[in-house]
Amino acid sequence: MEQIQGTKRSKQRERIFVTLRRTRSHPNAEWIYERVRHDLPKISLGTVYRNLHVLKNQGKIRELDFGEGTRRYDAFTHDHYHFICEECGTVKDLEVPTQTDINERVKTIVQGVVHSHRLDYFGVCSDCLNKV
Ligand SMILES: [Zn+2]
Ligand SMILES: [Zn+2]
Repeated sequence: MEQIQGTKRSKQRERIFVTLRRTRSHPNAEWIYERVRHDLPKISLGTVYRNLHVLKNQGKIRELDFGEGTRRYDAFTHDHYHFICEECGTVKDLEVPTQTDINERVKTIVQGVVHSHRLDYFGVCSDCLNKV
């Protein structure tokens, strides 16, 4: 029984991870839940949240908060920047080189260890700009 429970749990987690891995839309938990439910109809939203939390703690995914009142998730954990459209809420990955030197620059102020930094750009995307 333990074994079966464990297998079921890891299967759910794998499914959630794969679903997130296949999109670059930085979805929230509800979006992931709707997708995963097609394959695993018995899964609950609470389970999705729990697994996202575990995946985050394992360093497999990142949790993003752009102050929208909902958290988004990203399966791409390498350092990268985001552009957030204030009109439609689209989040885009920005394929620009990250500035590794700015971690060094603040080290003396922090007087500790700097692992990473985040940089979020906010504005209006081209789709929203061209809308009539
Ligand atoms: Zn937009
Ligand atoms: Zn991203």
